[in-house]
Amino acid sequence: MLKPKALTRGLFIAIIAVSLAMGFAFAEEVEQAASFDDNADESEEWIPVKDLDPDRVELKAIVREHNAWVQVTIIFPNSGYDVEWGEVEQDNNTFIADTRIEADEIVLPVVTEKRYRYELGELDEEEEYRFVFQVWGEKIDSIKFSGSCIVESTVVVFEEDSPVIDESYPFSAEETSCACGNNVEYRFEWDDVENLSRESFSEWSETPEKEHSWSDEGEYNVRVQARCSENPANASPLSDENKIEISEETRIDDWNLYY
Ligand SMILES: [Zn+2]
Repeated sequence: MLKPKALTRGLFIAIIAVSLAMGFAFAEEVEQAASFDDNADESEEWIPVKDLDPDRVELKAIVREHNAWVQVTIIFPNSGYDVEWGEVEQDNNTFIADTRIEADEIVLPVVTEKRYRYELGELDEEEEYRFVFQVWGEKIDSIKFSGSCIVESTVVVFEEDSPVIDESYPFSAEETSCACGNNVEYRFEWDDVENLSRESFSEWSETPEKEHSWSDEGEYNVRVQARCSENPANASPLSDENKIEISEETRIDDWNLYY
């Protein structure tokens, strides 16, 4: 996929090299590098972008049984950017992707998202890896991840004592993580079949907090399960049951208020 502008780029690099050799004009060339702060550029060329803000880059590792990828998403402030994603190179446990980003002076003021998945091949489950995202040879961002996508199990934590009937009762999961570095989603089972979906669980959610009210007194078991948001098939074992007793009586501390 060699584009005509690749030739222009070659020429541009050659000019810099010659300029450097001659000991002048380097500062001028650097000034030409496009910046997000520039409103307009008078040049008609595509201009290399070397000051990409790391906050505009999101890196995500996706680890499945027989293959792994890193997904790179860049949010550009307008439509005038072109990304040549390039190949990913491996050096032991480090993957390096070097991209070339160029800016055009003719742009639409529309926030533009560009996304690419670098295939990393099969990884060793026991190993830790690092992915470095470079633009024009300069490191912009990096992530660490494991060759496996395993979610640690978690436990249910009750926030308050003495819950009563029909009163919304908060509980949460102790936060856990996935070895691949992605977000985790939680779902709860609260032992109240009438108010749960067919699978007897709440919906999956990245929020580890939940509340529920029980309409009959008695003992209920609350359990939680976590899964990897990128690889939903990878879920932790269901946690141990955490028992909760729902009573009909008014709370003791409420009584104290009336004395
Ligand atoms: Zn994972």
